[in-house]
Amino acid sequence: MENCLFCKIIAGDIPSAKVWEDDLCYAFRDIAPQAPTHILVVPKAHIDSVNGITVENSAVVAHIFEVIPQIAKAENLEGGYRVVSNCGADAGQTVFHLHFHILGGKKLALEMA
Ligand code: 5GP
Ligand code: ZN
Repeated sequence: MENCLFCKIIAGDIPSAKVWEDDLCYAFRDIAPQAPTHILVVPKAHIDSVNGITVENSAVVAHIFEVIPQIAKAENLEGGYRVVSNCGADAGQTVFHLHFHILGGKKLALEMA
């Protein structure tokens, strides 16, 4: 997808600190970490947000949630971690390519809103 930041990162046109790559998804370190460990996991196929998940493309979401525990283990997040996806402006979504934040490495605040 043209002019999508994360599509450019997946394509390697914009550099990123890769932590995982397979046929379906790509994971890399957030450029502005909100926790000691802050990783973004994205489907390689462009989906705008959680609102773009359908019966046709949801297999990649299941796959990402199979990959997340493997990333967490590799990152030594045995104490726990949070998975977040901001959907839309009110949630603070700034990049409109579906992504799941993995946040950990410290005791996270409990506020959800
Ligand atoms: P959102 O606010 O859409 O949920 O999350 C977008 C995330 O992408 C933010 O946490 C932001 O720091 C991160 N981000 C924005 N631009 C870049 C970039 O060029 N490289 C990386 N690695 N992360 C980025
Ligand atoms: Zn994209």
